[in-house]
Amino acid sequence: MSFAANNLKSPRRHRHRGGHEAQDGVIHSVTANAALWPDFSLFSPTVPEDAQTSALAGNTASPKMLLVNAHPDDESEGAALVYRITHELGGTVDQVVVTNGEGGNHYSALAEAYYRLPLGAETAGRRKLLGQIRREELMRSSRILGIRHNYFLDQEDTGTTLNPAEAFNAWDIDRVRREIRMLLQFEKYHLVLLLLPTADTHGHHQSVAAITLEALADLEPEERPAAVGVRTAPALTGDPGRFSGLDGYPMTRTTSAEPVWSFDRATPLNCHPRLDYSIVVNWVISEHKSQGLFQMEFGRRTHEHFWLFEAGGKAGEARWRELLRMLERHEASCQDTAHRQAKRQRVKH
Ligand SMILES: [Zn+2]
Repeated sequence: MSFAANNLKSPRRHRHRGGHEAQDGVIHSVTANAALWPDFSLFSPTVPEDAQTSALAGNTASPKMLLVNAHPDDESEGAALVYRITHELGGTVDQVVVTNGEGGNHYSALAEAYYRLPLGAETAGRRKLLGQIRREELMRSSRILGIRHNYFLDQEDTGTTLNPAEAFNAWDIDRVRREIRMLLQFEKYHLVLLLLPTADTHGHHQSVAAITLEALADLEPEERPAAVGVRTAPALTGDPGRFSGLDGYPMTRTTSAEPVWSFDRATPLNCHPRLDYSIVVNWVISEHKSQGLFQMEFGRRTHEHFWLFEAGGKAGEARWRELLRMLERHEASCQDTAHRQAKRQRVKH
C-alpha cells in the first residue's frame, strides 16, 4: 500500500491560508502560523535531507494525517507522533477541534494573572473570552507541532463529564459528522488520530471518536485511512491498559485489546543523543496556560500507546503499517548518520 495512492488534489473549498474562512462559511480554518510571530518562514520546520529520502523511499508520498479532537489541549496526547510526522517525515497534519474549550475554567486562576483577564467567572462573557484564549493557545501549540490547518467547529463545551450522551444532546451532531466526512473525502488523509474513547475519559472524547469513526466508515473501503486511538501512560506504572471498544458504540471496536504500537517519549529526539521528545510535549503543555491542572502534567506521561480501530479496515491497516515502516526507516537513517559521525570523529583523533 502506497500513501501516494490516496493523495489526490484537494478541492478549493478546503484550501485556506492565513486565517481566511471558507467561502461558504461552514468551516472556520486558521493556519497555525498566522500572525503569531513576525516572520514564520525563519522558524518553519526543516526536514533533514536523509529524512526526506527516507519518507519518499519505495515510491511513497509523505504521510498526511487528521487529528479530530474535542478540546484545545487534546493534541498533547499524541504530540510526539505528530511532531515526528511533520518534522521527520515531512508529512502534513491538520486538526479538527469540535469545541473551543470554554468549559475549562476550573483551574484558570494563574492564567487570569498571566492574561490579565477574568477567565474563571461563571458568566457568558467569560465563556466567550476563555474560548478565544484557548483557540489562541491551540494555535501556538499547533505551531510547535507543525500542524497545517485547524478547523474549528464551534460546538458548545458543556464542561467535564464522563457521559458521551451530553455532547450528543448539546452539539449539532449532523453538522460535525458532515464536516469531518467532507474533510476525509477531499483531503484523502492516510491516518486519522483520535483520543482513545475509554469509558474513564472525558465524555466529549468518547463522542468525537464515535462520530469520526462513523464518518470514516462512510468512505469506500479502499479509501479509508488508518483510524488510530492514542492514550498516554503515566511514568509511575507505564501500563497502557487494554481497550477493545466502548460499550454501546460498535464503531469504536479495535483490532486488538493491546496497543498495536507504543512510543517512548524519552527516545532521543531526531537522533540527538541528549534531547528527547518529552521536550516537545512539555512545550505543547506549556502553551495551554489557561489549564492550570494540565500544567502539572509536565513529564508525567512517558509513553504514547496506539490502538487501531477496525473501522479503517484492511486499507487502514496497510496505511498504518506503511507509517511504521517510514518511522523505522528514519530511525535507521539516524543510526547510520550517528555511526558515520562517530567514525569521522575517530579518524580525526
Ligand atoms: Zn479534552
